[in-house]
Amino acid sequence: MSTIDGLPPLREVIAAHGLSAKKALGQNFLLDLNLTAKIARVAGDLGGADVLEVGPGPGGLTRGLLAEGARRVLAVEKDTRCLAALAEIAAAYPGRLEVVNGDALALDPLAHLTPPVKIVANLPYNVGTELLVRWLTPAIWPPVWSSLTLMFQKEVAERIVAEPGSKAYGRLAILAQWRTDARIALKLPPEAFTPPPKVASAVVHLTALPAPRFEADPAVLERVVAAAFGQRRKMLRASLKGLAPGIEDLLQSVGIAPTERAEQLPLEAFCALARALVAARG
Ligand code: SAM
Repeated sequence: MSTIDGLPPLREVIAAHGLSAKKALGQNFLLDLNLTAKIARVAGDLGGADVLEVGPGPGGLTRGLLAEGARRVLAVEKDTRCLAALAEIAAAYPGRLEVVNGDALALDPLAHLTPPVKIVANLPYNVGTELLVRWLTPAIWPPVWSSLTLMFQKEVAERIVAEPGSKAYGRLAILAQWRTDARIALKLPPEAFTPPPKVASAVVHLTALPAPRFEADPAVLERVVAAAFGQRRKMLRASLKGLAPGIEDLLQSVGIAPTERAEQLPLEAFCALARALVAARG
């Protein structure tokens, strides 16, 4: 059977290289190259971009990215069993795919890429969330990357794009929406993967803003958000008590009722509170 890129179908690749999915590595593979090309298109125009792909596995999404014209793909994969399959893709796209064997949590390959850089990944969900938080909290903003296109468990995707007043609204929404435009681009049922995971998935696309949406010191904002959502059912005057003496007055000075709960508070108000805390310290 022929495929859009002339390489063997992914089922054959998996059989030829003995890539039975390992649960410990969160391996749920995408085998439909039309679908992986569609995910690659979510990342926008790849022609002039370097792409960091984390967890390429047998290479379905990698092939989508290359077929959609990525200038260069740097792929970091932990499972050595996948390397031979990935080498075949590299040979079919000379000079455009580099594979690094390692743990994406231990490496920082961004330094090896030339902007514009787009990050695309279908990762195990726990690794994906940890990397997302790292990518959203670099020492300097704007970051090296211009966009992130990431597969998540649908429930995590909903937390990233959540609005105030919803149960899903919390730290992840604030971190993401403070410095990026975030949207759910695609929803995928479990059957889109082999083997199918227990829950539905979604691709989230985040575009880095040139500057944070509202001014705030990142560390102070992080502290406010952690305290507020650490006890999300309490009123802010209680959950934020430990942050500063006279927190009620401080809340009122920026127009927040001390009886409000974290869940109700828009991003702008969290940033105003972070600024007021810095000002109060003098
Ligand atoms: N991208 C492929 C696809 O869409 O079919 C594979 C997706 S599978 C959900 C996750 C991939 O991430 C697996 O290939 C797994 O070996 C790899 N992986 C898991 N943890 C990793 C880590 N810490 N660093 C790099 N790769 C990792």
